[in-house]
Amino acid sequence: MPLVQKNSIKENESDDIFASFDLSVSVPKYKLSKDEISPRHAYQIIHDELMLDGNSRLNMATFCSTWLEPEVYTLMNETIDKNMIDKDEYPQTAEIEARCVHIVADLWNSPDAANTIGCSTIGSSEAAMLAGMAMKWRWRKKMDDLGKPTTRPNLVTGPVQICWHKFAKYWDIELREVPMEGNRLILNSAEVLKRCDENTIGVVPTLGVTYTCQYEPVKEIADALDKLQEETGLDIPIHVDAASGGFIAPFIEPKLIWDFRIPRVKSINSSGHKYGLSPLGVGWAIWREADDLPKDLIFNVNYLGGDMPTFTLNFSRPSGQVIAQYYNFVRLGREGYRKIHQSCYDTARYIADEIIKLGPFEVIYDGRGGMPGLCWTLKNDKAYGFDLYHFSEKLRSRGWQVPTYSMPNDRSDLVIQRILIRHGVSKDMGKLLLKDMKRCIKHFKDNPVQKPLNEKEYGGYKH
Ligand SMILES: *Cc1c(COP(=O)(O)O)cnc(C)c1O
Repeated sequence: MPLVQKNSIKENESDDIFASFDLSVSVPKYKLSKDEISPRHAYQIIHDELMLDGNSRLNMATFCSTWLEPEVYTLMNETIDKNMIDKDEYPQTAEIEARCVHIVADLWNSPDAANTIGCSTIGSSEAAMLAGMAMKWRWRKKMDDLGKPTTRPNLVTGPVQICWHKFAKYWDIELREVPMEGNRLILNSAEVLKRCDENTIGVVPTLGVTYTCQYEPVKEIADALDKLQEETGLDIPIHVDAASGGFIAPFIEPKLIWDFRIPRVKSINSSGHKYGLSPLGVGWAIWREADDLPKDLIFNVNYLGGDMPTFTLNFSRPSGQVIAQYYNFVRLGREGYRKIHQSCYDTARYIADEIIKLGPFEVIYDGRGGMPGLCWTLKNDKAYGFDLYHFSEKLRSRGWQVPTYSMPNDRSDLVIQRILIRHGVSKDMGKLLLKDMKRCIKHFKDNPVQKPLNEKEYGGYKH
């Protein structure tokens, strides 16, 4: 390389980032550039572009972790190169995953936690697919044994998260989603019974409904299904979607019976990256007993060295999230989780009580009897100069992301706002939010909006 060119490279290296040649042009966005640029420059360009994202800590819509201890960042860094699937190469990572399965099974009162079967997943959606498949396989085997047709399976649920719509579509299952009715925004046993028949592969109550944060009554539904079995012989299993509640209820309401203490509950899923307090990318699926997971759904691979059973939908997967989950278990213990979640409840209830006092809002769920969160709607007794979609947009101007959305059928007339209080949302932040809500109400009082926004015009949170 001629010396003169060397000098110019050297010069380039000592340039201020923003005075560099790389940043003097716009990088191609939708195809690869011809040449490389320096890592320092590439980092700066991308880092700066990401400033346009919302601030995750102010994202009041999410159930997922947005605050993590520094030790979690360190462990995530140290495990970035380890593939969760390579259980033979990284046996200690595999061992830690297995310990987590047992810890979670024990937390959910598995009758035989040490010998239960389960796995980590990328989140509750994957866990729901796996548990749903197991339900379909068990139902099909039962029908085959009875010599009955297996062409019309159905699944009975309340207002479920989108993953169950996907599951039903991907695996050709009729979803019997109980509609909301009046003030009943969740499932109850009477509505379940109306929809169960011999083609029902299972019933899925949700512990922490996405729309309202409420817990569905698992025990009541199980009792009703026990009675149905006595009367008709139909034996319909329950899977609990405890995406959020699975890591809350055991610490806060240990007496609430929703888990494997109910024999009819055959499987449970939860998201480690929600109230399990782990970083994004980990969920858990646990079966009551090994027999509840049909053997022919488990594949054995030998090409990683050793003979390894695998059941998940993904193959390669990062291991850091699982390690971070184990860190939280070791670090917090039961009492650590309890204290964190209790402080979230205290904040949620405080905000709910204060929001009532603001005037325009009617609180639908106030953080009592479900998850640490709350939701409210706009009273329609008089004009406040805004609708909830306007209100979201106005709050957004201060950085708060408070989603507005309509309920599913048959309450699509009901439009609400919902916030989740999670690790890292302090009482002080709650007070700041309330202050900004007051400011917005005053703004709309002084400058009423004439035209209502509808869901399509609103750029906010979409399901
Ligand atoms: C979040 C959630 C899911 C999906 O979980 P992911 O971890 O995001 O895949 C499923 N069901 C319920 C009730 C949820 O809250």
